[in-house]
Amino acid sequence: MEKEKAYKAHVVVFPFHGQGHINPMVQFSKRLASKGIKITVTTTLSNTNSMQAAAGSITFEPIYDDCTEGGVGVGGFKGFFERFEASGSRNLAELIRKFKNSECPVNCLVYDANIVWALDIAKQHGIAGAAFFTQSCAAIASYYPMHHELAEEPLPVPAFSMPGLPQLIIPNMPSLGLGTGGVPPLIRHILNQFNNIDKADWVLFNSFDTLEEEVVKWMSNLWPVRTIGPTLPSVYLDNRVENDSDYGFNLYKPNTDTCMKWLNTKPTGSVVYVSFGSAASLNAEQMTEMAVALRQNSNSFLWVVKPTEECRLPINFVKETSEKGLVVTWCPQLEVLAHHAVGCFITHCGWNSTVEAISFGVPLVAMPQFLDQITNAYFVEKFWGVGIKPEADEKGHATGNEIDRCIREIMHGERGHLIKKNSSRWKELAKEAVCERGSSDKYIDEIIASFAAT
Ligand code: UDP
Repeated sequence: MEKEKAYKAHVVVFPFHGQGHINPMVQFSKRLASKGIKITVTTTLSNTNSMQAAAGSITFEPIYDDCTEGGVGVGGFKGFFERFEASGSRNLAELIRKFKNSECPVNCLVYDANIVWALDIAKQHGIAGAAFFTQSCAAIASYYPMHHELAEEPLPVPAFSMPGLPQLIIPNMPSLGLGTGGVPPLIRHILNQFNNIDKADWVLFNSFDTLEEEVVKWMSNLWPVRTIGPTLPSVYLDNRVENDSDYGFNLYKPNTDTCMKWLNTKPTGSVVYVSFGSAASLNAEQMTEMAVALRQNSNSFLWVVKPTEECRLPINFVKETSEKGLVVTWCPQLEVLAHHAVGCFITHCGWNSTVEAISFGVPLVAMPQFLDQITNAYFVEKFWGVGIKPEADEKGHATGNEIDRCIREIMHGERGHLIKKNSSRWKELAKEAVCERGSSDKYIDEIIASFAAT
């Protein structure tokens, strides 16, 4: 066996397998690796196959092979999670045991907070366990009282407030789907995250202290919370991690050349970038309204329309708007947000997209679709002041006129001026957090120092 380098410790990182989970956790792995930690990332077979070349010193180990098609398979969510736990927990235990008598036994498991059983495996093997949340601190905080309320039978969701923050009430809390009368399996799954969290040695967030100061303080009374973000590639922030210029993982193939060549022809701050991430999809009516807005607004636009959504685009839209618009099926979002031509981002407010936009100082038109996106949009508009949320009509849709109004407000209006100022300030604070002796950097060093004590 090749002699191991002198690593400070060995950490196994276990993300859930969606794009929005893999990216921040692999990025965190790269940071730990840059500080002398041996990293083994364990994820599904299809992911490890496509990531082998992507992250230099990190080793990838498959843990599960059931979702190569990206679906949940037999038995819906419940069936999927049961199969995942049965074989995943066996394989995880085996992986930790495999290293036990090596030169580099595992010191800590950093597990995706929604894979609750992973912490039990870590504890059974006498190693530290760090829960990694890929949602905001505020979104998780606002789920917490629901966990209690829903412990036995579904009950009305209580209002929730934290010192220093406006009261979070529906519709600013994550959508639970309680209108249906029951608690959907996905929500149960989310709330289960709290079942054993009290046993975690660390509770990590892809966020930074100043961004969610009051919530972090509030939550630190419950658990050993540490913010370690933003987890964007280092080249965009502090440039201290070697060869860290992209996430190295894409669910879909981005149309990189087309997008970047097109953006290069556009003036600074002139383009509206539109994307709703990997999971959300606009329905036909909302898609039509978006098309109306982009057609009537005077700015150029780059719109990500996934292959499954293309059939909902108005007929001839792409051809009729080709003078000022580009429609692609997936784009290199980091490069797009970093491009000087982009002036605002119409987003579903997935946590990664939100953190990325904040880190690049790009103002937002916030159009959340479900779950934590609703809380994120609220913070974008009301708390960080980096965007505007269009008003919805009685059917819950934002009309074309309303979306157009928000774009104009941001790009050319008085409110836009303030929003741009706020965005620039948050961009600087994001950088500060990950630079040497910044809050996230200090927490990462603190976590690493704790390994030496084990
Ligand atoms: N993304 C991308 N190209 C696109 C759209 C999205 O690379 O055309 C990336 C984006 O940079 C982010 C992730 O996909 O890192 C989406 O994560 P987010 O949490 O925003 O939303 P989700 O897809 O989980 O709903």
